[in-house]
Amino acid sequence: MATEHIPGTMPTIFAGHGSPMNALEENRWSRGFAALTQSVPSPRAIIAISAHWFVDGTWVMANEQPRTIHDFGGFPQALYEIHYPASGHADLAQRVLQMLGPGSAGSSMDWGLDHGTWSVLRWMYPKADIPVIQLSIDRRLSPRRHFEIGRTLAPLREEGVLILASGNVVHNLRDASSRMRTGDLSTPDWARRFDNAVVATLEQRDYAALLSLASETDDGLRAHPTPDHWLPLLYVAGASNPSDRISHSSDGFDLGSLSMRNILFGGVTGSPGRIPKNQQRQYRTSVPGASAIASRSICRSPASGTRCTVTPRRSA
Ligand code: ZN
Repeated sequence: MATEHIPGTMPTIFAGHGSPMNALEENRWSRGFAALTQSVPSPRAIIAISAHWFVDGTWVMANEQPRTIHDFGGFPQALYEIHYPASGHADLAQRVLQMLGPGSAGSSMDWGLDHGTWSVLRWMYPKADIPVIQLSIDRRLSPRRHFEIGRTLAPLREEGVLILASGNVVHNLRDASSRMRTGDLSTPDWARRFDNAVVATLEQRDYAALLSLASETDDGLRAHPTPDHWLPLLYVAGASNPSDRISHSSDGFDLGSLSMRNILFGGVTGSPGRIPKNQQRQYRTSVPGASAIASRSICRSPASGTRCTVTPRRSA
């Protein structure tokens, strides 16, 4: 089952994004985001799976100039003034749609980059000079199906594409808010146990256990009252391979129970490298007319033709 690590294979990353304020503040967590790039070759593009695009349907953002979405409320004005001007990549979006298969996903021109994505990328790639597309999380799918979508996208790692998921290993906002109110910022046992269980399960490559960990264990149900911040991890676990070294550029808890663990699958040691030119793939030549197709498809499912409506969540 083990596959050899191929030099030039891009790592795949789960980032624990936490509070939107981490986009603004240089702190322990934002330094952890920046540190992720130390063992990541420079990608030619990024596909991001964010907890904050959690909707009905699997959608691929095909906008060449994605807007910065400020999908939160009640934060300082300076946070709303942040823009992350990375370009999109319509050809990569078409490639992803092809990989997922007819009827499985649609392209979206409505969505941009939500804070699950840009609050991390702002520190990883502050110049915003790497194209980014987002993939939505279909809230109707089973954990196994999310994992399988990640596995389907794994070949992109050989093509210089960084698969970046953004959520939190433990995310119970009610508990975190209560701790903030009372000033008790101690980490509860259940949060620490679940955080450790996730790491152990990943190290053992016990994916059957991983798929039920959040929904079928007491600690998992406390760690994730809703699955939006958990499911991104299943995409990168699916895209990982057994020879990937697992590492963490930062870990620990914010607000007592919010796990800020980053998980890196694969990656190089030492100075950042680059994907060899002969492993880079030109999407434009592989999908003739892809840009024209994308510009006509405004968040429309090939299966149902239903227009996608997406409402930004107003929460962290
Ligand atoms: Zn979030």
